[in-house]
Amino acid sequence: MGTTEAEIRRGSNLFLGTADIKALSSMRIEIGNHSMGHTFFRSLSPTELETEIVESRALLEYLSGQPVPYLSIPYGNMLDATGNALTAARRSKHKAIFLVHAKSNRFRPASDIFYRVSPGAAALEDLPFKLRVMPMIRSVRGWVW
Ligand SMILES: [Zn+2]
Repeated sequence: MGTTEAEIRRGSNLFLGTADIKALSSMRIEIGNHSMGHTFFRSLSPTELETEIVESRALLEYLSGQPVPYLSIPYGNMLDATGNALTAARRSKHKAIFLVHAKSNRFRPASDIFYRVSPGAAALEDLPFKLRVMPMIRSVRGWVW
């Protein structure tokens, strides 16, 4: 297409740069790890997972000057929380690993794995239903079928 990934990145204005990470950190905004390339972890070798998880965390810590203890798995699918991915995340001192699925965290698969639930644009009075009831229903539904 006559362009490079770097040119698209610069021209799109969609991605954070080094200065942005430093600025966010100076505003006391916590930086989390979401991997280098946003790929499906299930398709990666242990060496590639090292880059995506361990090196990504180290780079973010270097750039932000703050600890980066959280990993949000790209696409958040449990299938990408492979044994090798979890080993790399835990070995590199991630304290919490986030998935989507919006299930109840009462039934999370390990003490350091959490399901994210997005409240979206829910009205305040709907939050208990969206954040407590629906996650429980999703968990139970997962047991039944
Ligand atoms: Zn993502």
